[in-house]
Amino acid sequence: MNQALREPSFRESVDLMFNRAVAVMDLPPGLEEKIRVCNATYTVRFGVRLRGRIHTFTGYRSVHSEHMEPVKGGIRYAPVVNQDEVEALAALMTYKCALVETPFGGSKGGLCIDPREYEPDELELITRRFAYELAKRDLIHPAQNVPAPDMGTGEREMAWIADQYHRMNTTDINANACVTGKPPHAGGIQGRVEATGRGVQYALREFFRHPEDVASAGLAGTLEGKRVIVQGLGNVGYHAAGFLSQEDGCRITAVVERDGAIIDDAGLDVERVRHWIAQHGGVKGYPDAQFVFEGISVLEKECDILIPAALEGVITRDNAPRIEARLIIEAANGPITAGADEILRNKGVVIIPDLYANAGGVTVSYFEWVKNLSHIRFGRMQRRQEESRHQLIVDELERLSADTGIGWTLSPDFKEKYLRGAGELELVRSGLDDTMRGAYQAMRAVWHARDDVQDLRTAGYIVAIERVAKSYREKGI
Ligand code: GLU
Repeated sequence: MNQALREPSFRESVDLMFNRAVAVMDLPPGLEEKIRVCNATYTVRFGVRLRGRIHTFTGYRSVHSEHMEPVKGGIRYAPVVNQDEVEALAALMTYKCALVETPFGGSKGGLCIDPREYEPDELELITRRFAYELAKRDLIHPAQNVPAPDMGTGEREMAWIADQYHRMNTTDINANACVTGKPPHAGGIQGRVEATGRGVQYALREFFRHPEDVASAGLAGTLEGKRVIVQGLGNVGYHAAGFLSQEDGCRITAVVERDGAIIDDAGLDVERVRHWIAQHGGVKGYPDAQFVFEGISVLEKECDILIPAALEGVITRDNAPRIEARLIIEAANGPITAGADEILRNKGVVIIPDLYANAGGVTVSYFEWVKNLSHIRFGRMQRRQEESRHQLIVDELERLSADTGIGWTLSPDFKEKYLRGAGELELVRSGLDDTMRGAYQAMRAVWHARDDVQDLRTAGYIVAIERVAKSYREKGI
């Protein structure tokens, strides 16, 4: 292959993006390298007896930066997991956590496995053994390293990991905080499953609150009616597409999946598509839509917003020149290679970068971790008190209206909404929304204030690196 056109590896891509940001920063000598490098990656090979023989599995847990502890990041189950990928993802976690102000360093784990090839009881054995290997080295620990779901894992795996840690640490009162993304009935928090998709929606809403930014993407107006293409209808893509179409009036004009893509310019019904995939294993055969076997080519179809929500490295130097979207929001980690990023920027495409766009997951993980450490559900103390104070106002307004003869009546809908005190889900959503708004505003301030910063990604890295650098400086390193 022509060396000049070689795509960088995922980790090299992240480093190139990092370098672009530090080139316009003024960091003390040597600090740039300290922040960029991955502190340590642990590789473990372990055996599990299944189906009458021993199967050996390879897993990783990479710790990118311990400027804050615990370190945080998901555990991915996929056949292609490798050290380069896990280190790239761990680095992204450092920058992501800094950007959205969750008090964690960055980490990531992975297990080379195709989870679809195993029965649930086999996956449980494998997960427990992997968790044991990591926990005995403090690579799962409420104060040191707190995993979470990622591609190929979910609430079920997190519940097994939490239980395994409990068994190994029976007197640790904070054991539940050793992992996030647990089911709500097993120490989890409401709204975590949907959090990354919800974060993508909140990110887009915030972007569209700034007409200047919208115009720089060559778009206008609000999210209403925008044509959206989604790649990957997994947990993140499904929730993002569902919320955007049901709550913001977006039209999902294409869904790209593993086995091909489906197109309907009038707008696909996300729930129906998801149901079809669950029943048939892919999008092929979905009625009332055009099927395209070469799914990846549909990323090049004209649309307003492209949401890559599957794997890294799907937009490369090869297909970037043909991408027609005006705005790309990276719901996945690293879907655009460094080379493709440059091509797209030169074309004037606005990219809402991964370290911000998909940070909703770790944000709600932070809330879950805090909930576990405080041993109390959010809203438990104040909900009814809030309701009774609201009731006082409603009663007073109604009394005034009656006494003065004004004859106001409060609509039942207003009363219902106003009187209801915030429960856990409302508080999680409010905290997530606030986080996504604040982080976007921090990025855009740098984007607009500096002539040497042309894009949101560089701006996001600058904000994140400055915060990490500050914490290293405070530590005296
Ligand atoms: N795996 C998710 C991510 O890449 C979530 C990490 C977490 O919640 O710690 O951001």
